[in-house]
Amino acid sequence: MKILVINAGSSSLKFQLINMDDGDVLAKGLCERIGIDGRLKYTKKGCEQIVVDIPMPTHGEACRATTDYLVSAEHGVVSSMDEISAVGHRIVHGGEKLTKALLVTDEVKAELEKVIPLAPLHNPAHLIGINACQEVMPNIPHVVVFDTAFHQTMPEKAYLYALPYKYYTDYAIRRYGFHGTSHRYVSARAAEMLGKPIEELKIITCHLGNGSSISAVQGGKVIDTSMGFTPLAGLPMGSRTGDMDPAVLPFIIEKEGLNATELNDLMNKQSGVLGISGVSSDFRDLEVEAKKGHHLSQVALDMFEYSVLKFIGAYAAAMNGVDAIVFTAGVGENNIGLRERVIGGLSYLGAAIDPVKNDVRGVERDVSADGAKVRTLIVPTNEELVIAQDTMKIAQSL
Ligand code: AMP
Repeated sequence: MKILVINAGSSSLKFQLINMDDGDVLAKGLCERIGIDGRLKYTKKGCEQIVVDIPMPTHGEACRATTDYLVSAEHGVVSSMDEISAVGHRIVHGGEKLTKALLVTDEVKAELEKVIPLAPLHNPAHLIGINACQEVMPNIPHVVVFDTAFHQTMPEKAYLYALPYKYYTDYAIRRYGFHGTSHRYVSARAAEMLGKPIEELKIITCHLGNGSSISAVQGGKVIDTSMGFTPLAGLPMGSRTGDMDPAVLPFIIEKEGLNATELNDLMNKQSGVLGISGVSSDFRDLEVEAKKGHHLSQVALDMFEYSVLKFIGAYAAAMNGVDAIVFTAGVGENNIGLRERVIGGLSYLGAAIDPVKNDVRGVERDVSADGAKVRTLIVPTNEELVIAQDTMKIAQSL
């Protein structure tokens, strides 16, 4: 069975065609500049990426360009669209009601519309993407898979904010958490690597990339996670603030007269390690600058690591222990020094890293020191595969 995974943004559409028999990615790519001019970046398995300018006034043309390439004589990977069994759509926000993967129906679309205020940048684009793909591929099932779904098991004490309760009932203001598909995948893989049922494990999953979040997964269920109402909360990130005293916001508004849009821009795009360093939101750039002696690049890296350490400590406390700490995403999978320093700061928990085993990037591996009570694992994430698996299950059940 072959499943097409789609991640639609406001002016982009990412895709992967996955062969579910072996998990192979047959082709992947990105349509960008939709609504501006249009460009397709397309990589067939084992081939170099090609880049073609194709007019894409709407997501419809982007979707059409994608499917044209997937079946084309020169670049294609399937002989006809009939070989594609279903389409899985990544959705950032499912709100409180959309808590598991679902077949796209008119009711599901209506519920997605209702959730738009919670993710005004993402969900409208997802809906446009779904409609465009349904037009181009009307005869196969379309499935939606939510980033927020895996976090829906959090108890009230973890997901409520200490605002007057009516803000929860009236506006659904609460912690939702994000990167759920990634936390789900890596925690499940961790249990497999440890050879134990996930129901018996306490796992802390650290998704550390340009956007970062940490989750406490107890018995296979999230009991707490660092992101919140939006993906701004928790750790300081590439260009996002992470947690801070909310009173800073009215203070800045008073000082600089910013409106809500400007404030959101400041917190999401100009802050984090970029804001502190003044250099870059990319952790590799910061490492280069810090090595050259740039003080604020080092401070930004230190702030990030310190925050990772604090969240792990907090979640170990929340679960009254931890069996495994998992690192994933760009920084988690690749930053050898960060893993070593963070785990070095958790010796009180019984975690210890083997520096030789840890000297790798982007491979799945148990990097714990022999005899360490708390295991340290690297698990490269694979959100697309999870979306494809969920989609396949639903397609097969029809
Ligand atoms: P992601 O959002 O998961 O794609 O992660 C992007 C972040 O991962 C960027 O800040 C990169 O600097 C960081 N990253 C990627 N590769 C490496 C590497 N080899 N060493 C350190 N950081 C890396």
